[in-house]
Amino acid sequence: MTSHRTRLNRSDYERGDVPIRSVGWAPETLPPPMAPLTGDTEASVVIVGAGLAGSSTALHLAERGIDVAVVEAAQPGDGASGRNAGHVQPYLATLDPTEDWPDKGQRLLDTVIEGRGIVYELADKHGIACDAQATGMVEGAIRRYGELEEKARVWRGYGYDVDVVGKADLTRLLGTTEYSYGLHWGEGGSVNPYLFTRGLADAAVNAGARVYGDSPVISVEQENGRRRVRTLHGSVLADQVVLCTNGHAGNQFYPDLAKTQYPLVAYAMATTPLPDDVLAAVNPSRAAFTQFPAGLVPMVIDERNRLITASIPRPRGADKAETYFRHTLDFLHRTFPVTRDADIGLESYWTGMTASSSSVYHADYPQIFRVDDGVLALMNLGTWGVFLGPLLGRNLANALADDRMSDVVLPITEPETARYRNSFNFKIRYVLIPGARVVDRFNIL
Ligand SMILES: Cc1cc2nc3c(=O)[nH]c(=O)nc-3n(C[C@H](O)[C@H](O)[C@H](O)COP(=O)(O)OP(=O)(O)OC[C@H]3O[C@@H](n4cnc5c(N)ncnc54)[C@H](O)[C@@H]3O)c2cc1C
Repeated sequence: MTSHRTRLNRSDYERGDVPIRSVGWAPETLPPPMAPLTGDTEASVVIVGAGLAGSSTALHLAERGIDVAVVEAAQPGDGASGRNAGHVQPYLATLDPTEDWPDKGQRLLDTVIEGRGIVYELADKHGIACDAQATGMVEGAIRRYGELEEKARVWRGYGYDVDVVGKADLTRLLGTTEYSYGLHWGEGGSVNPYLFTRGLADAAVNAGARVYGDSPVISVEQENGRRRVRTLHGSVLADQVVLCTNGHAGNQFYPDLAKTQYPLVAYAMATTPLPDDVLAAVNPSRAAFTQFPAGLVPMVIDERNRLITASIPRPRGADKAETYFRHTLDFLHRTFPVTRDADIGLESYWTGMTASSSSVYHADYPQIFRVDDGVLALMNLGTWGVFLGPLLGRNLANALADDRMSDVVLPITEPETARYRNSFNFKIRYVLIPGARVVDRFNIL
């Protein structure tokens, strides 16, 4: 595997575009590449982008017997889906944005509740070896927060296995006495998101989909009531196009789509495998662990016993692997004293792009846009795509297969330019994250 010492430009990191072989989730030997699209072909549905959203949509369409082609600029999982922190968060951060929806979000909620096990179920059903661990998820806080209590009350009411936990439980679950209050989500967990995404794309192929790699789409044109999706060396003529291109610069053919989102670069890293004494003491429950109110050091321990974390880099500093590794070590030394004398190295460091639909955390929701006749876009999954990508992809696929778009659980809206896009990066990278680090470091809240 390429180490973090691979020579890359700062701009590669800032674009979230370092090669997938630098990403800690990618195996030493990458899976065989999907062949590019060459020549002209046809399909009922063509999907642009093979991340979790696109791969799941393709798989579930193919399973319904629909002739589907996927056209991916790089390879399945090369976008955010293969680069994230691997947390499976099988609920919604908030229901606030659904207040104005005709059904007040009831169908989305029902779909989330019913589909909360989708990541583990798909991995199991398709035999995807992706270290999917339903080991729970912990949000740890240093004091009591009414919001957490309310969240637990609401989701317990929906039948979720979620509990408010105190210091004794947190110490048992996490192996540290730092947190005195928090939530334990029994249905949360973690997954190797690269292997999961690639596995979904392979499953789509097994179900009859055609998946083309290394084929950036350069245009989508209307042609006699159908759509022609063009790459440099080929095209697919289809009745329906679904764009699942997220924030990885890919909406040049519909520039207005890029304006609907707040793209933000995020970094992630994997340590070297942790020594045995550290493994026994740090996060013994192996829950996906994050902190509240700011999840500055989300953490999973993977099947190779590496600690994997992610966060937002400082301005113009997406390439500063050693700096963020030092921050991570500082956090570990503070939180888990056993790590102070341990030999923990940085195995890999990478970046990726998140794409959100709002500059306000609680208004950030995935979107389905009607971009043009016969062209939909499912995107802006924020930091919830590991769960919402497969779930919403399946929902959209079933609605398309049944030719009943009223079954789509998100409102289908026109692309609308997001407000304050230019100040979003400034706000997050200059103000919110640095501020949250200070607050966290000195226990100010
Ligand atoms: C560092 C980091 C940590 C994160 N942590 C978590 C987490 O712990 N849990 C969680 O739920 N979410 C997390 N997320 C968010 C999650 O990764 C995303 O929400 C999710 O992967 C989005 O999936 P997607 O399919 O919409 O997009 P992507 O996976 O980005 O897929 C889009 C695909 O479209 C392709 N594409 C773009 N343009 C074109 C074109 N012109 N032609 C053809 N193909 C094109 C790209 O190559 C890419 O493969 C994190 C994200 C990052 C970056």
